[in-house]
Amino acid sequence: SNSLDKDQMQGLRGVREFLKVRTSYDVLPLSFRLVILDNDLLIRKSLNILIQNGIVSAPLWDSRNGTFAGLLTSTDYINVIQYYCQFPHEIDQVDQFRLSSLRDIERAIGVLPLETVSVHPMRPLYEACRRMLKTRARRIPLIDTDDETGRETVVSVITQYRILKFIAVNNEQHTMLLKKPVREIGLGTYTDLATATMNSSVLDVIHLMVKYNISAVPIVDKDNRVLNLFEAVDVIPCIKGGAYDELTATVGDALSQRAEDFAGIYTCSEEDRLDSIFETIRKSRVHRLIVVDDDSRLKGIISLSDILKYVLLYGEEEDDLQEY
Ligand code: ADP
Repeated sequence: SNSLDKDQMQGLRGVREFLKVRTSYDVLPLSFRLVILDNDLLIRKSLNILIQNGIVSAPLWDSRNGTFAGLLTSTDYINVIQYYCQFPHEIDQVDQFRLSSLRDIERAIGVLPLETVSVHPMRPLYEACRRMLKTRARRIPLIDTDDETGRETVVSVITQYRILKFIAVNNEQHTMLLKKPVREIGLGTYTDLATATMNSSVLDVIHLMVKYNISAVPIVDKDNRVLNLFEAVDVIPCIKGGAYDELTATVGDALSQRAEDFAGIYTCSEEDRLDSIFETIRKSRVHRLIVVDDDSRLKGIISLSDILKYVLLYGEEEDDLQEY
């Protein structure tokens, strides 16, 4: 109806205004820890460091030139796995690869290097969001440059998850206006879904993620009921210790080794409204929602980028967007 439309637009405008008056710096907690890895580190060792610190990504530092050298993410490990699949006789060499070799690995397997965009921490948060959407990055480094020396400092990294959490926590008066059901606003993907079963191999799922350029694959039974979700970050423990041959293990085995504190998977229905999705984001550590019907059958998937895209871009005029 008309008033639903009006409320929805008013809510979206409210959130957009909020993102324009806050900075990326505002998203950061008062105190935080940042693990930065030296580009010279062996890839094999970087895995253990991520696992020990309970993180899935880290900025890289080129200590020779004193510059930021990109972000290490699960995509990089997936690239190493693809390299190993293409050149299986080079396993000894793979073991000796350093983080600085990641760009060579991309070239060897023929994937386009991800554009490393960064933002200054004091720029509007809206700008960080726009850049993330434009480059399909899930996280963006905050880089400060000293005016006089030109030296770079990595202040932190913010993720889509952090930003949506920040919106959810600080914008209840706006998000409560978003009362249209997911079905009506077409939020998420509902056709050509990539899925796997408990008996698929981890490697099969990795190939699916690469082929579809996605970061998670729902695991379904023979009736298309959702059992679990395999995420790109689940790859990290699988290859701990350089055990690339264990990638032939089944998804079922890999998922049974998840950490005790695994946040779980989140589902919703097509009748759910965006206000309730924001409530879920406010309360829990949700990285995507699986859309199911009343029988738990898979209908679709809503990624954080789908939500961010809708919140930022729906109903905006092309012209207004050019400046970003
Ligand atoms: P994000 O960018 O938030 O990490 P994804 O990379 O998983 O999310 O999703 C990118 C796009 O692909 C989104 O539009 C999402 O709806 C869609 N998508 C996510 N998972 C799947 C899947 N298993 N099959 C098909 N499309 C998917």
